[in-house]
Amino acid sequence: MRRYLIAGNWKMNTTRESGVKLAKAIAEVNSDTTRNVEVLVCPPFPYLIPVVDAVAGSEVKVGSQNCYFEDGGAFTGETSLSMIKDTGATSVILGHSERRHVLNETNDDINRKVLKTLENGLQAVLCVGELLEERTGNKTEAVLDEQMEGGLKDVSAEAMANVVIAYEPVWAIGTGQTASPEQADAAHAHLRKWLETRYSEEVANATRILYGGSVKPSNAEELLSQENVDGALVGGASLTPENFIPIIEAGGKISS
Ligand code: PEP
Repeated sequence: MRRYLIAGNWKMNTTRESGVKLAKAIAEVNSDTTRNVEVLVCPPFPYLIPVVDAVAGSEVKVGSQNCYFEDGGAFTGETSLSMIKDTGATSVILGHSERRHVLNETNDDINRKVLKTLENGLQAVLCVGELLEERTGNKTEAVLDEQMEGGLKDVSAEAMANVVIAYEPVWAIGTGQTASPEQADAAHAHLRKWLETRYSEEVANATRILYGGSVKPSNAEELLSQENVDGALVGGASLTPENFIPIIEAGGKISS
């Protein structure tokens, strides 16, 4: 059975103090009600170490929001996987739509980062998703296929054990507009089929596919109840315990 993963993408938000406070509040939640849920928080780079310290002793995991694909050297402003690993973080969000569309990352850049993340033994959370005009132009599946093909190039079936896919329709990110549970499940089913065709039924069944795009306490349970939805990647609502904890609890309720 796939274990739910509820991940918070803090983006370029929080301070050291507010991030630590938020992480501690989330770390305290891990009670019986949420035992079937894996929880991940992804703070900005400067706060990885204090956040790792803040959740120490709990089940909460910490991830970064990006990485660079070189091991080290003259790459001003970049952060290597060994540095990320050194902080105690265990996951990396890759291919987020803001990195694709604001920072112009290509599928090839993302693929190099995915491969390097896996080579370093960290979990890669690969984000894919279509723009509004791609959805209205009936191109959603073609865009997802291209992003999966590009992002997972040369990733073996064995390495897929450390890959999580996050379906994030760009039109639903930070807009308050959520994909309907049916739209989300249809896209996830398509991604699962892609995994089956490209890898195997076993990989398709084992790989978690998260939904991301304006997930909040009021819609979490319905989205997470969909057959092919194995968790959520949460932006805005991951920034307060009042919003994020009920989303974790929704996952716990469904999986218990
Ligand atoms: C995200 O940035 O991954 C995201 C899904 O944001 P939001 O929940 O704010 O739409």
